[in-house]
Amino acid sequence: MLGIDLEKADDGFSSDLHLIAGNISRALSQLVLRTDVSGMPLEWIDYKEAARLYHQEQVAYTCGSPLFKLYGGVSARTGFRTVLEVNSIVATVGHTGNPGNTRHDYVPPLNNQTLFRRDAHFCLYCAQRFPVRELSRDHIRPFSQGGRDVWTNVVAACRRCNNLKASRTPEQAKMQLIAVPFTPTYAEYIFLKGRRVLADQMEYLRAHFPRHSPLHARIKRYLS
Ligand SMILES: [Zn+2]
Repeated sequence: MLGIDLEKADDGFSSDLHLIAGNISRALSQLVLRTDVSGMPLEWIDYKEAARLYHQEQVAYTCGSPLFKLYGGVSARTGFRTVLEVNSIVATVGHTGNPGNTRHDYVPPLNNQTLFRRDAHFCLYCAQRFPVRELSRDHIRPFSQGGRDVWTNVVAACRRCNNLKASRTPEQAKMQLIAVPFTPTYAEYIFLKGRRVLADQMEYLRAHFPRHSPLHARIKRYLS
């Protein structure tokens, strides 16, 4: 767990940060999973936003493990310094703002970062793994043949495979997909959006995935 002095953190925090070792800045960037009061995952927040929610008494309960210990000012009433422990998962009261909660037909926005994560950075044609910069968004049924820019019609593809396939369907190009593209649910989307998702956050999100989610197997492999 990381201890942070909130009084220092509020003023000139970023300039102080450069003087501190890199692993502390990495620890500070660890995001907290925010859920609504019923436990539905909502979003990723940083430690400052988490501290604000605690301060405004919007945190109903916490799950996961303690991440940060935040030190505030000295209370005039008690004479003690306030200490706040922030957990990896916080459930909050009030307006949820979770579109996945209210709309069953919710479709998360499509972008390359989450698309490549959905496909675990594999090219879904040659089944090899690539860094982000070498991947591209392939339209399974190309635009020229009426294909649309939707989750179920796009896959991660390496540049070589994308060029090879060109403006053809996989059948026309005699290429085979190694997995079926799917539209992530809200919980799956939150998982895919996460940078450095902690094991307890992973387990928590996984409990909200549909039973058939291909991400179950991936998380299981990761945690084993
Ligand atoms: Zn490829």
